[in-house]
Amino acid sequence: MKRIDTLVIGGGQAGLAMSRCLSDRAVDHVVLERGLVAQRWRSERWDSLRLLTPNWQTRLPGFRYEGPEPDGYMSMAQVVAFFERYAASFAAPIELDTTVLAVERAGTHFQVRTSRDTWLARHVVIATGFSDLPFVPPLARHLSPRIVQIVPTKYRNPDQLPPGGVLVVGASATGVQLADEIRASGRPVTLAVGRHQRLPRTYRGRDILWWLDAMGAFDATPENVVNINTSRHQPSLQLVGRSDLRSLDVAVLQRRGVRVLGRLLGAEYERAWFDDDLVATTSASDVKLVEVLQRIDEFISSAAVGAVEPAERFEPTWPSALEIGQTTVDLQIDGIDTVVWATGFTRRYPWLRVPVFDERGEIRHRGGITPVSGLFVLGMHFQRRRKSAFIDGVGDDAAFLSDQIVSGASFDAAAAS
Ligand SMILES: Cc1cc2nc3c(=O)[nH]c(=O)nc-3n(C[C@H](O)[C@H](O)[C@H](O)COP(=O)(O)OP(=O)(O)OC[C@H]3O[C@@H](n4cnc5c(N)ncnc54)[C@H](O)[C@@H]3O)c2cc1C
Repeated sequence: MKRIDTLVIGGGQAGLAMSRCLSDRAVDHVVLERGLVAQRWRSERWDSLRLLTPNWQTRLPGFRYEGPEPDGYMSMAQVVAFFERYAASFAAPIELDTTVLAVERAGTHFQVRTSRDTWLARHVVIATGFSDLPFVPPLARHLSPRIVQIVPTKYRNPDQLPPGGVLVVGASATGVQLADEIRASGRPVTLAVGRHQRLPRTYRGRDILWWLDAMGAFDATPENVVNINTSRHQPSLQLVGRSDLRSLDVAVLQRRGVRVLGRLLGAEYERAWFDDDLVATTSASDVKLVEVLQRIDEFISSAAVGAVEPAERFEPTWPSALEIGQTTVDLQIDGIDTVVWATGFTRRYPWLRVPVFDERGEIRHRGGITPVSGLFVLGMHFQRRRKSAFIDGVGDDAAFLSDQIVSGASFDAAAAS
C-alpha cells in the first residue's frame, strides 16, 4: 500500500488548483484522475462551446490567461491546452488514467483503492466536479420510445440529431445555447422555459461579467445572500461566449423562430404538458435584469471607471399569446423527434464509503470541510463564494482548504468561524 499525506480526486480545475496550493505549502500529495487533465472539457462538452467567461477571467493560483485576446472566449481545445500548461507549470503530481474505486476510513486515515493501486492517506480532497452527471427529470421515462433523448454531455452538434423538431428543456446557459444552435441548423425548436436569468453580453461598452467582477458580485459569501439554498440553486446566466458579442436570451430566441413554452411539468407517451408560467418567469427575469443594470449604473456613478457608454434598457420579453396559451403539446403531431435535457447536473459518489452524505445524497460540508476529519470537497457551487465553481473562483477555496489541511481543520471550527 502506498502512503501519502493528501490525495486529491479529480484532475479538473479544482484538482489542479488544489495541487498547486498544496505544492506551495510543501504538502506531499498526488492527484488521481480517471482520464486526462481537464477530462470533462475534452469529452463532455459540445463542439461549438466556448467559455462564457472572458479570457481575462481565467485565473487560477499562480497561473492566468496571458494571451493576446483577454476579451475573447476560449474554445474547448484552448481550455484543455490552458489546463495542460497549468499542470506543467508546477509539475503537478498527477496520475492519469487512474479511477478511484473506493474510499474508506482506516483508523485516522483513508484507504483509497484505485484502478492501479491502493493508497493510505491522511487527507482526501474530492474534486470530482459539481457538474458530474446531467440531471434528467423522472418524467423522461414516460416519453414514447420513438423520441430520441439526449443530455448535453453527449450532445456534440445538430448533425447527430434526427432530422425532425427538437424540444429543449431548460433555459439556462446550456439550454439557450443548444436551442440557438439547433434552430440555426434549420430544425423547428421548442424551448421549455423555467426559472432563468437574462443578461446582455455587454453593457455600457464592457463585458457584463467585467461589471459584475468589478462590483464584487462573484465574491458574495453565504452570509451576504438572503437564502444560501436559493442562491445555490440559481440557474446559470443566459450568456454565450462569441466573438460577435451577441446576447442570447428568450427574446432573442423568439426572434430566431424558437417557440417558447413554460416549464415542462409532465409527459405521457406523445403528450407533454407545460406550466402556464411563461409570463411570470420571463417577467421575473426582466425585473432582475433591470435591478442588475441599475446596480451597474450606480456603481459607475460612484466609482472611477473611466469613459463608458450611456445607460441602456432592453425590451422586455413578450411571449406571444399563442405561446402563453399553449400548455399541452402532442409531440408526434408537432413533429418533435428529439428531447434535449438541459436541466442541470447532479452528483453521485458510489465509491465514497464514508458517512458524509445528507438526505439528498450531497456531501455535507462547511466551506469544503466535511464532518469526517481529513475529508474535504472542492468545486461545489457557492462553496465559500458565489464564484466557487468557476475557473476564477476555485483558487480561493483551494488556498483555504490547503491552509486547513496544514493547520488541521475541524468541521465544528468551520461552523464557528
Ligand atoms: C457546459 C459548461 C460550461 C461551463 N462554462 C464555464 C465557463 O465559461 N467559465 C467558468 O468559469 N466555468 C464554467 N463552467 C463551470 C465549471 O468551470 C466546470 O464545470 C468545470 O469543469 C468544473 O471543474 P472541476 O475541476 O470542479 O470539475 P470537473 O471539470 O468536472 O473535473 C472533475 C474531474 O474528476 C474526474 N473524476 C471523476 N470521478 C473520478 C474518479 N472516481 N476517479 C478519478 N477521477 C475522477 C473527472 O474525470 C474530471 O476530470 C461550465 C460548466 C459546464 C457544465
